[in-house]
Amino acid sequence: MLPAPHNVINERIHVLQTRWESYVTGGAFECFIEFAVAVNCLTEQFNRMRLPGLVRLCEGLENSTLARLGVPASHPIAREDITALQRQVDSLLGAVSNSRPTSPERRIKERVQETPDSDWIKPRSVWLVVGSEAHEMVEALGQQLNFFGFHTRKMAWGEKQPDADVPLAVLFIPAADMPRTDEHAYIATMRSNCGASQLIYLGVRPAIEAIVALMRSGIDLTIPREEGSSMVLNCVLDLVQNFETEKYRVLVVEDSRVAVALIQRTLTENGIDSHAIRDPATLLDVLESYRPDLILMDMYMPGFTGVEATRVLRQISAYSALPIVYLSGESDVGMQVEALRLGGDQFLNKPFNPVLLAAVVKTKIERFRETQRSTRLDGLTGLLNHTAAKSRLQIMAKNMTGHTALTVAMIDIDHFKSVNDAYGHPVGDHVIRGLAWLLKGRLRSSDMIGRYGGEEFLVALPNVTPDQAKAVIDRIREDFASLPHAHSTGAVFATFSAGIASYPYFDTAQSLTEAADNALLEAKRLGRNRVIKASDCRNDLQFGACTA
Ligand code: GH3
Ligand code: MG
Ligand code: MG
Ligand code: MG
Repeated sequence: MLPAPHNVINERIHVLQTRWESYVTGGAFECFIEFAVAVNCLTEQFNRMRLPGLVRLCEGLENSTLARLGVPASHPIAREDITALQRQVDSLLGAVSNSRPTSPERRIKERVQETPDSDWIKPRSVWLVVGSEAHEMVEALGQQLNFFGFHTRKMAWGEKQPDADVPLAVLFIPAADMPRTDEHAYIATMRSNCGASQLIYLGVRPAIEAIVALMRSGIDLTIPREEGSSMVLNCVLDLVQNFETEKYRVLVVEDSRVAVALIQRTLTENGIDSHAIRDPATLLDVLESYRPDLILMDMYMPGFTGVEATRVLRQISAYSALPIVYLSGESDVGMQVEALRLGGDQFLNKPFNPVLLAAVVKTKIERFRETQRSTRLDGLTGLLNHTAAKSRLQIMAKNMTGHTALTVAMIDIDHFKSVNDAYGHPVGDHVIRGLAWLLKGRLRSSDMIGRYGGEEFLVALPNVTPDQAKAVIDRIREDFASLPHAHSTGAVFATFSAGIASYPYFDTAQSLTEAADNALLEAKRLGRNRVIKASDCRNDLQFGACTA
């Protein structure tokens, strides 16, 4: 079983503290490197958990550490540098302990039981700092946030911050009558009191000086007023979502056992999965089975060189964008340039600096996954698109064993064409986004949500019984029916119908989707705005076998 996130955090914090203490006592260069790696591992973990505030603090500490890395002879570093780092370590640890909620609260009580720690450190409150003239829009935004299960607290600019609770996010809306310098000072105080919260500023002037000044005072994200509350809602909902939790995967192509051991040790310490091959002849087979996010390539190996292997990969479309980093003792700059020209992304020297290696590997993989992600996500809702949802479901279904459960729901908005016809396409889009938000806000991070077609969604809920799944979808259906979608002269309401089908009664991605689709058709036929379960029997796939 995977360790719960808070245990990983506790463990990594413990490692960080111990390594820092041993550096402070001994002053050895190696200890300093180990400390830098520990900070990096913690950053990595917060990144995985999507805690941007804590990531920011960790990265700050990481930068200060790297700035003082120097060479073995420059250690131990000066007393005042130790004090400065100590201060940063303390404020990071303080922010982490402030961020643990004292009483774990459920997002909504109807939600399927989730592992108790998966919401760790993610409060559900949002503070709204508002000027006196922004009330109407704040009311509407507050209502929407409440609807999606967030607590909101309205505050005036300059108001003293409550001590007890740590918000997930603070939203600042400028006050017309307030000098900018006062605004910045207030934001800076908020920043230092709420290290782990996401600070959002809505209504920024589109001028680079204004945005830079806000970021310097501690704002994480600025949103122009035109983008309005829908962008804010999107950001806040994203903060409580867990997207990619899959570990980074690195393929090490290297013929020296010693080098492999050193490289894999660094990667493991950074939470990166790796696989090593010593014979480049097996490269294509391994790439297909291991699907790495990056290759660390040696230059000289028996058979052929790393550069030759790279040239081959660049001719295969599936690998043309895969990051390839050379790790080699080759010191001839001409050769290095040639290696890059022939398809490599970066050149690192052996013996390698573990901190640099980890940073290069991670940033390259982050970029790579980001570009991959944009081809997998739907632009309107940010959910998985049709192809990605289908392939995710295939993986989920393939991993099923006799003891586990999985329910698939096919959801389709009712009479959607008439919403478009009556209010126009943009209002239709708004309704689609509203359902996407509702699903994101109400389902667990382990659930899969995809936009399967125009106004059709595919959802997969692992580890719940069919009855629990039906109850959850039904509750979302009721809430969706009561969610007002704003248009120019008022609000429109919409409903959806859903069909659900469960493993093990249906045991492949295709049969689950088909059965859910048939149940959906039955829901439409019976009058819409309802959830229908596909029959629990594989042989009875006809509509008549569906049960309400
Ligand atoms: P039913 O209750 O039977 O599902 O009726 P319906 O009107 O929802 O179903 P139908 O399939 O006839 O119409 C779906 C409409 O959704 C047609 C299409 O123009 C519209 N649509 C598809 N994608 C989008 C989109 O991205 N934005 C908007 N605004 N409309 C879309
Ligand atoms: Mg070699
Ligand atoms: Mg429809
Ligand atoms: Mg449809």
